[in-house]
Amino acid sequence: MTDFKLITDSQWRERLSAAEYHVLREAGTEPPHVGEYTNTTSDGVYSCRACGTELFRSTEKFESHCGWPSFFSPLAGDKIIEREDRSLGMVRTEVLCATCESHLGHVFAGEGYDTPTDLRYCINSISLTLEERPLDGE
Ligand SMILES: [Zn+2]
Repeated sequence: MTDFKLITDSQWRERLSAAEYHVLREAGTEPPHVGEYTNTTSDGVYSCRACGTELFRSTEKFESHCGWPSFFSPLAGDKIIEREDRSLGMVRTEVLCATCESHLGHVFAGEGYDTPTDLRYCINSISLTLEERPLDGE
């Protein structure tokens, strides 16, 4: 099994497109409202585009109108890493893939969304790959 944490920057550049590399490996942010999964409502599982680990499910995706795919919970807490991000003069919580440590987005708490957690995992579409499949019983 590949140890994704040992992949070098130059290897990531070969594996990813320039836009994917910028977001996943340089903690970039795609522009709002343009990502392919912003408004997706299909049943399925969203995996890390860099390493393929399943991260989020459509059952936890909700319509936040913020311009990026939003989830109120990851598929499982150990799939992701959350760490403090003090870039851009703000204190935010960055969300990374636990398997390959690629940047996914940020998580925001207490915004008043009508979801079970009142968390908004604001994730770049380009960090994800959706596999459409029925989720009955998962
Ligand atoms: Zn990953």
